[in-house]
Amino acid sequence: MERLKGKVALISGGARGQGAAEARLFATEGAKVVVGDVLDDVCKQTADEINAKAATKAAVALHLDVTRANDWRAAVAASEREFGGLDILVNNAGIYRTGGIEDTDEEDWDAVVNINQKGVWLGMKAAVPAMRRRGGGSIINISSIYGLIGSAGSAAYHGTKGAVRLLTKAAAVQYAPDRIRVNSVHPGVILTPMVDIVPPEQLQSLIELAPMKRAAQPEEVGWCVVFLASDEASFVTGAELVVDGGYTAI
Ligand code: NAD
Repeated sequence: MERLKGKVALISGGARGQGAAEARLFATEGAKVVVGDVLDDVCKQTADEINAKAATKAAVALHLDVTRANDWRAAVAASEREFGGLDILVNNAGIYRTGGIEDTDEEDWDAVVNINQKGVWLGMKAAVPAMRRRGGGSIINISSIYGLIGSAGSAAYHGTKGAVRLLTKAAAVQYAPDRIRVNSVHPGVILTPMVDIVPPEQLQSLIELAPMKRAAQPEEVGWCVVFLASDEASFVTGAELVVDGGYTAI
C-alpha cells in the first residue's frame, strides 16, 4: 500500500481514462498527485474523488494543455508549492485520429503531433529541473503498441507514438547521470473514452488480434505505471513496457 510513499507525481491527461486510473492508484500507494488536463471539470472531479478517500489532501487538479510550455511550468510549480517537489511525471495525455498518409489533413496531423509528441517533450523539459532538485525521479511516457508496429489507418498517431518511444530512450541516456529514469509504456486496446470513436465491429476485430482476446481495463496499465514510478524499478531505464495481452508477441 505504500509503494510510492513520500513521492509527488504529475499526470497529464489525468481527468479520465488511464490517467485517472493512474492518479487513483498512485494515491492508494501513498503518492501525492497533481492531475492536469484540458477537461477542467472532469479533472476536478477526479481529484475530489481521490481526496474524499484520503486522510489528508492527496490530489490537486489544474488546467494543463500539454502543448503549452507555460502550462507545464505552472504545473511543475504547483507540484512544488502544494506538495514540496516533483518525483514522477506521467506523460499520458494523448489524442487519436484515424486517417492514412494521404487522407490525413494538416490540421489533424498538427494536432496529433503537438499533443502526443511535442507535449511529451515539453513535459520532460519542464519536469527535469524539479527532479534534479529532488536528486532524481521517474518519467513514464505513454506510447502505444502503435508506436511499435504499423497499421493502415492511423498515420499521424503511429508517427507520434513511435517518436515517443525513441525520445524516451534519448532522455533515458541523457538523464541517467541525474538519477532520472525514463521509460515508455505501450498499451494495446484499453477500455477508455479514446476507443469510443472506434466502431464496435472494428474494435472487436482489433481485440481478437491479441492472443488474450480481450481488451484491458485502465488499471491494468496503471499498475505497470506504478511499478515504473516506484523504487522497485530502480535499474529500469530506457525500457519499453508492453501491456497488450500479447498483441505484438505474434
Ligand atoms: P482518454 O481519451 O480517455 O484520455 C486522454 C486524456 O488526455 C483525456 O483526459 C484528454 O482530455 C487529455 N488530453 C487531450 N488533449 C490534451 C491536451 N492538449 N492537454 C492535456 N490533456 C489532454 O484516453 P486514454 O486511453 O486514457 O489515453 C491515455 C494515453 O494512452 C494516451 O496517450 C493514448 O494515446 C494512450 N493509449 C491508449 C490506448 C487505448 O486503447 N485506449 C491504447 C494505446 C495507447
